[in-house]
Amino acid sequence: MSDCLFCKIIKGEIPANKIFEDEDVFAFHDIDAQAPHHFLVIPKEHISTINDAKDPTLIGKLTLTASKIAKDLGFAGDGYRVVMNCNENGGQTVYHIHLHCLGGRALTWPPG
Ligand code: 5GP
Ligand code: ZN
Repeated sequence: MSDCLFCKIIKGEIPANKIFEDEDVFAFHDIDAQAPHHFLVIPKEHISTINDAKDPTLIGKLTLTASKIAKDLGFAGDGYRVVMNCNENGGQTVYHIHLHCLGGRALTWPPG
């Protein structure tokens, strides 16, 4: 998708603070961190919302990539949250799916 912000980040057309990349996924720090650690894991394939996802292996890989990064960054043991917002009521603002991973502080529940 030529007009998609996250596709442009994957292609390097917009700078991002990259953490990890392989043939399927790309992880980078959120520009507006809501916790001491806040990064996003996205598929390289453009998928607009989780309602459009078809590949369970790819969707699972987003979660396992977040978990590995949380371990590597040293906050997995204390705990963290992974969440994907969907459409308007879910608070989605960028329509290329992304798994948020937040950690480094005690997170409240339920979310707002
Ligand atoms: P959503 O609200 O769609 O679940 O989350 C979108 C996330 O993308 C937000 O947390 C927002 O801060 C982040 N974001 C938006 N634009 C950019 C950007 O240009 N670079 C980075 N690194 N993050 C962005
Ligand atoms: Zn995209």
